[in-house]
Amino acid sequence: MSEQNWSRETSRRTVLKTTAASIAGLSGVSSLAPLGRGAEGSRPQPVSDPEPAPAPAIHIAPDLREFNWPILLGNERDSMADALTGYVDDATVSREQKRTARESLKDIWAEVEIKSKTKPWHVIQKQREKERREKPNTHDSDRRGGQGHKKRQKSQKGGNAKPQIRRDDTTTVYKLKGDKQKVRTVLEDTERTVRQTGAVSVATTQDAESLANLSSVIESGATSSGENEEGSENISPQWKRGTKDKHEGHNYLARWAGKNMNIDDDLSDALFNNAPKPDGWDYDFPKIPERFEDPPTGNDRAHSYAHAWNPLTKIGHADHFLDERMNNAVDHAEESTERYQEVGYAMHFLQDLGNPLHTNMFLEQKLNEWVHYKYERKVAEYLEDGHILTENVENLEGYNPVPDPLPWEGSKWGEHGHQLATFSANYASDFLTIIMEHEGEDPLANSDELVTDTQSVLEKTTTYSMGLIGEIHPLYA
Ligand SMILES: [Zn+2]
Repeated sequence: MSEQNWSRETSRRTVLKTTAASIAGLSGVSSLAPLGRGAEGSRPQPVSDPEPAPAPAIHIAPDLREFNWPILLGNERDSMADALTGYVDDATVSREQKRTARESLKDIWAEVEIKSKTKPWHVIQKQREKERREKPNTHDSDRRGGQGHKKRQKSQKGGNAKPQIRRDDTTTVYKLKGDKQKVRTVLEDTERTVRQTGAVSVATTQDAESLANLSSVIESGATSSGENEEGSENISPQWKRGTKDKHEGHNYLARWAGKNMNIDDDLSDALFNNAPKPDGWDYDFPKIPERFEDPPTGNDRAHSYAHAWNPLTKIGHADHFLDERMNNAVDHAEESTERYQEVGYAMHFLQDLGNPLHTNMFLEQKLNEWVHYKYERKVAEYLEDGHILTENVENLEGYNPVPDPLPWEGSKWGEHGHQLATFSANYASDFLTIIMEHEGEDPLANSDELVTDTQSVLEKTTTYSMGLIGEIHPLYA
């Protein structure tokens, strides 16, 4: 592959899609949904530029996961290789270091052998189920098939069909062919070489320390193309507004969940007051799965892990906290403030699961952190300012009831969150693409499609939030 293959004219959309494919690998996603919207609301993507080759569905065998394998896979997929060398070209490092980085990539691809094999999807799924069974403490139950939603179906708006992540019938499995020790040596040599050239001169203010190895050169190329005034911001996310004196999306969504369900105002107020609080808590996990190596918001891994759950990888903890807080809630008297304080906390985690940026494409966000912050802040501002988006939150009549999972299928509260996450995850790729295409602008003001999609996820988030109340308030007994 020559570096000339990489064309600057290649649109950002192409870059994004291509890296999204490699990302699935990097973060250990073992199946990749087609990069677009899922079954619900599937509309063709807006095409203003030639569509790139479709992203591959890929499955990464465990022996590969421990390595930096978007880099390793470069030899398998020309498009990935192009994206990687393109990122090297964009990196904020010296010419010399770029040259070394490009050559190092080629060395790796020449020396490390990767085996790929196409398998039907059901084979992969069986394999994963087996892996899961062998780890008895795994908390996430399998998602169920088409049943559920038995109760109060009449009150539900729209189609009842359970959103499904679309999968290709086949998927490509990547495995190491050579021995692991050799791979490790090759990667270490590469890092050393790239680091050494980095010490010679660095083209920007970034110091050589921060560009220690090939991955960081690539990452710097990926972020620099998405940098703007918000690139360095350090705000915590989650439907949140940047300024402290203003309300967050969580305040608003939780209050309206209560109002829509016609509960007493002081209970809606308890929801309003408590829903944002989990963002201010400290989180500590004895062990975050290694595969959660790419927290979407970069700076605080534990916080991101606590507020995320990815239906493809089943990684994240928001579903657990939702379950825990709802179990606390039902220990309190039916219409007590204490109960609704806990429901407010639970709603926070549930609402995060309605946000595509909390349920999918974590690495892509880590590489472009401004995307996550910008989107969440804009949505919160728009909600507070009475934008059209409020129509999808206020005065809704139907709600999504909490499902009745069978006993071995896990908690109903967790399952409720899983369903919402499965819905929202389908939007992540489009959200990222659109927001990045409108870098430097207000993406919601410039993309009708993003507005429509945001309306759709906000409405689901609200009707699922209402579902929590529908399960525990005497009005709905
Ligand atoms: Zn959150």
